[in-house]
Amino acid sequence: MGITGIIGNLLCQMRFLLFIAVCLTIVGWASFYMKDSTRYTPKYRTPVENFWKCPTSVKKTEYNSQPPLVEQTSQKEVDLKTCPILSPNLQGVVPLMFQPNLTLADVEKKFPMMSDGHYQPETCRAQQKVAILIPYRNRERHLLYLLDNLLPFLQRQQLDYAIYIINQAGDVTFNRAKLLNIGYLEALKEENWDCFIFHDVDLVPENDYNTYLCDSEPKHLVVGRNATGYRLRYKGYFGGVTAMTRKQIAKVNGYSNHYWGWGGEDDDLYYRVLLGQMTVVRPPAEVARYTMIFHNRDAGNEVNKERVNLLKKASMVWKKDGLNSCTYKLLSIEHEPLYINITVDIGKPHH
Ligand code: BGC
Repeated sequence: MGITGIIGNLLCQMRFLLFIAVCLTIVGWASFYMKDSTRYTPKYRTPVENFWKCPTSVKKTEYNSQPPLVEQTSQKEVDLKTCPILSPNLQGVVPLMFQPNLTLADVEKKFPMMSDGHYQPETCRAQQKVAILIPYRNRERHLLYLLDNLLPFLQRQQLDYAIYIINQAGDVTFNRAKLLNIGYLEALKEENWDCFIFHDVDLVPENDYNTYLCDSEPKHLVVGRNATGYRLRYKGYFGGVTAMTRKQIAKVNGYSNHYWGWGGEDDDLYYRVLLGQMTVVRPPAEVARYTMIFHNRDAGNEVNKERVNLLKKASMVWKKDGLNSCTYKLLSIEHEPLYINITVDIGKPHH
């Protein structure tokens, strides 16, 4: 073979190799493209598949024994824009009023925009639906003072809220924690509240930048009170006024039902929050300020001498003592213009 023959042969082999290389590249591209496209192309769902997918997006009531409520959102609410977290109507510190001759009729006259214990802002759709739960027995004057100051405060914050008074019938020892559990259970029968505020009747907020909305963690709203020089009592203090979402409360199984008399139940709730892998958040001290209406200790709410022993057992019992074991007799529910009055027989301590 001459030199031209050898070159021709080589060229022919190179063309063949080139052809193989081009083929391999095309196969490589094709398989890469197909693999890629199966990864990113949204999977087609038949209408039947989509139908079964729906229930996961339906809002459920957190506590198991409650049937899921259907969200009732009026057309007007749908049309409104969501209110800002900080309302433009806030005024900061507003002087509080404690008029000795104030009557319930006077307060009702001041707030005609409330009915059945409920209020919704007119011009926007509130961030959350907030149920304010107030454990109560024989504190009529404190309740009037609280309502007179708290209602305008909440309305300036553009909240969608209702006030629930949970009234302990009879004269057995007071049980704040159990009343709050009952308030939670009963309020959820009426509406799918997003956020619950556990509120003492004798604490009046001083600054409307202390927003009554829930946070991503349980929130403690009382950093300081006039009675204690506006200083936090101790690091784990979680009493007076606290805000927790429906989910956060369900996670800790609510309060313990076993704290009869004064003290300890709020410390127990703090332990539950930690046991539930959550933390407590607080607004800045200059905002989270309250005036406590002075009073002597009520009869039937003596200091609970058992509280330290109960606290020692908290981590062992929290999953079975709480919302899931709260028994009571519902005596009445009255929808007054400014609040919903739930009267209950909560039984008595077992010794
Ligand atoms: C009690 C709490 C109470 C706190 C502040 C503690 O000793 O256990 O229940 O809230 O003092 O008064």
